[in-house]
Amino acid sequence: MDTTWNLLIDLRFLTGVTIASDRKSAVIQAGTLQDEVGNTLWKDGLGTATGSIPSVGYVGWATYGGYGPFSSNWGLGADQIISAIVVNPDGEIYVAYRELLQGIRGAGGLFGVILEVTVKVYPLSTVCFILLPSAMLMSRFE
Ligand SMILES: Cc1cc2nc3c(=O)[nH]c(=O)nc-3n(C[C@H](O)[C@H](O)[C@H](O)COP(=O)(O)OP(=O)(O)OC[C@H]3O[C@@H](n4cnc5c(N)ncnc54)[C@H](O)[C@@H]3O)c2cc1C
Repeated sequence: MDTTWNLLIDLRFLTGVTIASDRKSAVIQAGTLQDEVGNTLWKDGLGTATGSIPSVGYVGWATYGGYGPFSSNWGLGADQIISAIVVNPDGEIYVAYRELLQGIRGAGGLFGVILEVTVKVYPLSTVCFILLPSAMLMSRFE
């Protein structure tokens, strides 16, 4: 692979989740990982669609689709995005207009660097996981 002209933008220090005062949305910064999103919302009795692995970034996951354990209830990560702040190739920072936001919900960062997304959040008071050992499942089919 020719790496002469590649550009790496490290967003790991751009983290944070800020819940709106009406508790219907939250702003998630571009470097935030899934576990910070889930834990911050959970402490406030809220949740949103997240992926199944805590150490994966939220914004790449959500903007390229975003399937996870809550998707059967709330939809994909991309369905949650109601606003985004983007840097375009000229270095201008702006709120994504309607068509750009549509593109971001599925095509991710193809159109610029996403600095933050605002997503829908929902009341969440109970989470129940049922773990079945695979040996137990196999015995049902024998
Ligand atoms: C262990 C593991 C488990 C996974 N589990 C799931 C799962 O359960 N469900 C699911 O749907 N997917 C899952 N995935 C896939 C995951 O959603 C994608 O790899 C996703 O792109 C990771 O997001 P990231 O923020 O770490 O992106 P990165 O890997 O950093 O980037 C992925 C792409 O997004 C672009 N990008 C990322 N952030 C920005 C930004 N802020 N602005 C512009 N462009 C950006 C990058 O340029 C790159 O093209 C998993 C991946 C891994 C490694």
